[in-house]
Amino acid sequence: MNTAIIGAGIGGLTTALTLQQRNIDVAIYEGAPAIKPVGAGIIMANNAMQVFQQLGIQSAIEKAGNKISRLRITDPQLHDLSVIDLHSFEAKYGVHNVAIHRGALQQILADAVGYEHIHLSKRLSRIEKNDDFTLYFDDHTAIQTNVLIGADGIKSVVRNQLFEQSQLRNAHQYCWRGICEMDLHERHHNAPVEAWGKGKRFGFVKIGAKKVYWYALINSLSFTTHGVNLVNVFGDFHRDILEIISNTPQQQLFESEIIDLKPIAKWHADRVCLVGDAAHATTPNMGQGACQAVEDAYVLGKLLDKGLPLEKTFAEYQRLRQKKARMIVDTSWRMGQLSQLENDWGIWVRNALLKLVPPIANQKQMETVFRLATV
Ligand SMILES: Cc1cc2nc3c(=O)[nH]c(=O)nc-3n(C[C@H](O)[C@H](O)[C@H](O)COP(=O)(O)OP(=O)(O)OC[C@H]3O[C@@H](n4cnc5c(N)ncnc54)[C@H](O)[C@@H]3O)c2cc1C
Repeated sequence: MNTAIIGAGIGGLTTALTLQQRNIDVAIYEGAPAIKPVGAGIIMANNAMQVFQQLGIQSAIEKAGNKISRLRITDPQLHDLSVIDLHSFEAKYGVHNVAIHRGALQQILADAVGYEHIHLSKRLSRIEKNDDFTLYFDDHTAIQTNVLIGADGIKSVVRNQLFEQSQLRNAHQYCWRGICEMDLHERHHNAPVEAWGKGKRFGFVKIGAKKVYWYALINSLSFTTHGVNLVNVFGDFHRDILEIISNTPQQQLFESEIIDLKPIAKWHADRVCLVGDAAHATTPNMGQGACQAVEDAYVLGKLLDKGLPLEKTFAEYQRLRQKKARMIVDTSWRMGQLSQLENDWGIWVRNALLKLVPPIANQKQMETVFRLATV
């Protein structure tokens, strides 16, 4: 059986590595001419790091990134509203949450998979289903494959051509991401911060020596998004935040609408399955989109170890993964709305309630996110 994976994002690469470690031959087809992710950072949370530990790339990722041990939500002046301590999870699972440059993470994954297995400039345009799958690419080439894995992101061609119609949802939040070089104050070294304001928020985290990744979101129905000066938009936020924005070259900012995929019923059919954003793209408010893609790969790998027939493996994969992925999509959507309230009274109540949440409740919630499925 030969296996084709469409997409060399975090989901496709982690799946490839997982299959290779089980002696399954994979070929990845990536539409882009290079593995060149957006100039932004990413947080790989404890659940993803547990998987990377099993794949043998945990320490490379930790070395290239920055370990974090607390999660902070603050008001615009960086006064804490909620602080989640991660030490108990580090002790329990033996891994840290890590903030890292996306490019560095993808490089580590691609190196581990081997570039000879990654075919670049191969954008899938059409799939013909016969006994096998015939994949047609934009460069007028075609290949045959027995097994097909769609890891081609939120706008997945595999999903759109082989599964029922799906729907993308616009959260009406507009996002800027950037990386700047600066010495972040020591108090921010091991804790990402997300500062919640009125219809807008700003997050930042250290991803390496003198490297800070940040993101800013505003409600796109209430604010102008085109050609804005972010220092003005976030003028009422703490001076550390304004310094971060000012230290980032404007032309290196990456802008996007925040969208997700309305949960779909089926992630598999015969010998095809979807992983990562192609199956369950979420808004980024829990920092779990890529971590969930990594968990997909983990569960697929564990099921393959059981030696079930492929169709049963894919069906079990969906059964074991769908509920948690759905929980992330739903919770993240609600968090996005809550974090960008515009009503003063609503903001006051939200902030008061956040301060009242007992640490045990936060720990319980994190446990549901960090615990991997039992396969
Ligand atoms: C602002 C923001 C912040 C985020 N922060 C975090 C975070 O901190 N932690 C976290 O876990 N997640 C985060 N996420 C989510 C994360 O980025 C995604 O969930 C993750 O990248 C999904 O990985 P993937 O491999 O499934 O898809 P993608 O990253 O979208 O990769 C898909 C790949 O397939 C390729 N492709 C697409 N179509 C085709 C085709 N037709 N033919 C061939 N190749 C194709 C693409 O070029 C791409 O390389 C964030 C998202 C956003 C928007």
